[in-house]
Amino acid sequence: MATIFTRIAKGEIPSYKVAEDDDFYAFLDINPLTEGHTLVIPKNTEADYIFDLDEHTYEGLTKFAAKVAKAIKKAVPCKRVGVAVLGMEVPHTHIHLIPLQSESDMDFKKERVKMSEADFAKTANEILRNFELL
Ligand code: 5GP
Repeated sequence: MATIFTRIAKGEIPSYKVAEDDDFYAFLDINPLTEGHTLVIPKNTEADYIFDLDEHTYEGLTKFAAKVAKAIKKAVPCKRVGVAVLGMEVPHTHIHLIPLQSESDMDFKKERVKMSEADFAKTANEILRNFELL
């Protein structure tokens, strides 16, 4: 059975898209640590662990994530975009990109930010717009 993230990339489950190409997909985390918290996934493999990806996919994913991070930095006021790989919940490789004001914003145990559907849509559109300008 397909992972939840494959189903998201195929559009079978809705998501707030922030970037896409033939091989990779980026969308807002539904339970964000900060506004603009984004997940970046490969579309054509469901490998659970990032370091098990083949070299080509690994390089493509990190390159794509770097571009998404640049778009996030332009779209969301923050000091830096933090990068994390956990995979404790969803067994499909994903990179977390998290706009940071301080170190504590990366605490995965902290209370998540509440965002309305309109907030999610606005943030996603702003990141997507900047991604397309890069
Ligand atoms: P991890 O597997 O890296 O420990 O955490 C998975 C992340 O995916 C969590 O931050 C969680 O909020 C997010 N997540 C889980 N299910 C969904 C979903 O269906 N849609 C979206 N947009 N994010 C999800």
